[in-house]
Parts: sequence; structure tokens; C-alpha cells
Amino acid sequence: MYRQIINELNQFLNFINIPGIPLNPDAFQGVLVKKLSNQNIIKDKRRINAGDIVSTVNQTHIDITGRQGMLFFFEELNNTTTSVQSIDIDLYDNNLKYLHEIDHASSQIDAKGNTYFVRQTTNLPPFLSNWDLTLHSSAYKKYGHTGDQVQINIPDSEEAFTRLQRYSFQDDALVMLRYDYLRYVAVLVPSELCANLYSITNTHGNQNINFAALNPAYNPVLAHQIQYETISKDVNYDDIDAITLQNTLNNNPGAGTDIEKIVKSRVSQGSFRRLLLLECHQCNLCDISTTSVLRASHIKEWSESSREERIDANNGLLLCANHDALFDRHLISFEPNTGNICISASIDSNQRKALNLSESANLSMTDRMKSYMQIHHKKFIEKENQ
Ligand SMILES: [Zn+2]
Repeated sequence: MYRQIINELNQFLNFINIPGIPLNPDAFQGVLVKKLSNQNIIKDKRRINAGDIVSTVNQTHIDITGRQGMLFFFEELNNTTTSVQSIDIDLYDNNLKYLHEIDHASSQIDAKGNTYFVRQTTNLPPFLSNWDLTLHSSAYKKYGHTGDQVQINIPDSEEAFTRLQRYSFQDDALVMLRYDYLRYVAVLVPSELCANLYSITNTHGNQNINFAALNPAYNPVLAHQIQYETISKDVNYDDIDAITLQNTLNNNPGAGTDIEKIVKSRVSQGSFRRLLLLECHQCNLCDISTTSVLRASHIKEWSESSREERIDANNGLLLCANHDALFDRHLISFEPNTGNICISASIDSNQRKALNLSESANLSMTDRMKSYMQIHHKKFIEKENQ
């Protein structure tokens, strides 16, 4: 994911004819992609530094909320002794001039009479000469807020970052690359040019943080943690969608199996699957590791699982499409104590061979997996005895 985003950025920089060596993924510790929303567009919006008599300088700011975003800036946010910290943010050379040239914003009035701004053209400038724009702004963790957040304050001035923000529009992406703990580079990508970036990073606009990823080579543990937290939130989100659909189904029993299918696939093929892919990279029964045919089976059936059980990785088994189908229909199961495979008598030896089912297959399970498997195995036995 991290490298994918860097690749996309390189394509963007190449697209706007910024010469030079492509961004080297290894040069950065991480990347944060923030889709700008109404709340964090800074265009002509200033803040008086309230309560500070001496410093009455106007400020613009961007709030970074969400656990992943905070981890991206400060790795020890839980350490309450962390003092106010400053970080340096540099602009990627040329980016500002590029934005200036495409930004012929004009105001228009919507149906409700509200003024909004549109960017008239994204015609690309022929070639951009070097602009050496470097500035320093400060970012610090703001205490006393409900919920943690990082607030990046930029003094009101002609400084480049402030101007960069004035050019920003809703749905543009602010991409920050982290050199090290205190130094960052910012690139603003206009929304018209970042559809692919969003498709990589979309995590339901999680509190305005689209994606924060650390370079796994820099800090594998934290990189995993950030990704894991993103995906867990994602799973929760999918789960809420699925519950809404389930309620619809309950209220309209006639709606039938289509909704039921959607409910199941929302969770089993969505983020729950990605959660399992983090732990395991191939089918538990064969060597298939092609992700497009890997499915996330719930061991205890989704419809019978609680909210927590639905997103519990212990309740998941990564299987290829064929093995998933067999497991889902209780044509195979695993003996909870030994982990030995149980294959339905209805599948003859030819089909066992064709389906790549080995009678000596064994699954090693955590204790919690075993308790879920007990339920699955019981159904398997019942079905066999019918
Ligand atoms: Zn398989």
C-alpha cells in the first residue's frame, strides 16, 4: 500500500512535467493522504490565535484526527509527557506554481444560494521552471481536546504553505511524506487528478484521514499497527452497513435472498478478508495464494455471530474459492481438538482428488478458533447423519 501510493505520486509528478529523479519510496518513512473536506479547506479562512494577547497573528490550521494520522506524526502519543513539538513541512518544489497555473477559481452560486468555488480548468502548464519554495511551519499535539488530534498551525503570511492551502479545494488530496520524525514534505494533488489515489486509500474518509502508512522497512511493527487499525475500523464500518441491510431484511422478509447475499458478502468479502490476509497469505488447505480467489470464511456463521465475533480474526479462515464453498456448506470441517480435516462422505475419492482435498490435511488453531470450530464441526456431523 505504501509503495502503491508513492508510485501514484510519481505518476502525478511525472504527469505535471516535474523533472528530476522520481520519489524514492525508501527515502521516506511514511505517507499520509488526506482528502480535504469542507472542514479543512483553508481558503480565506483564518483563525485568530485566541486568548494570546502578545501573539495576535492570524493562523490557518489543519487538524489531523484519527488514530492512524496521529501515529503518523507522533509515535508516542500515549506518552503524556510528550511536549509541544514543532515539525518542518517543506513543499515539493514546483507543486505550488503548478497549482497556481491551473487555479482559475471562480465563484458560482448553487441552487440554495450558497457561493462555492470551482476550478475552471486543469489544462496542464507546458513546463514548470524550478521554484525553490521551502518554509517551516509548526505542528504540535494540542492538549485538552476531546479525543486526540494533531493540529498543524501555519502563521498567516505569504509563506508557501499558506498559499498552498488557499489553492486547495474540497476533495483535493494533501499528501505528506515523512522524511523523519520532524521533517515532512507536502504535495497537494487536485481532485481532478487523484481519483486513483483515492481508490487506493479510501477507508471511508475515516475522520478525514484517508490513509496513513509507514514504510514497513522503517518500522515494521508500527507499520503493521497502523494498517491493522485502519482495517479494523474498516471492518467495523462494513459491519454497520451489513447490520443496516440485515435490519432491512428483517423488516421486509419478502426481500429474499439477494439482501442476505449482500449482507454476507459485505463482511466476508470485504475488509474481514483483508484482516485475514494480513495474518495469512494463502489458502489454509492448498497452495493457492492468488488473492483474487481467496475468500474469508466465517467459522461460526456470520448470521449467528455477535458483532465482535463477526470481526474476530479467530473466527476467520482464509480459503480459496473451492475450499470456501465446501466449508461454507459444511461439506468439510475440522475436528476441533486435533485440527484434522473431516470430509463429507458425499464427496467421492475422484472428487476429493479433483478438489485437492487431502485426507491428512490438518489445521492448527488457537483456542478461540477451536471454540468457533466446535460449532462448525457439530453442524458438519449433523449434516452427515441426516
Ligand atoms: Zn484451497
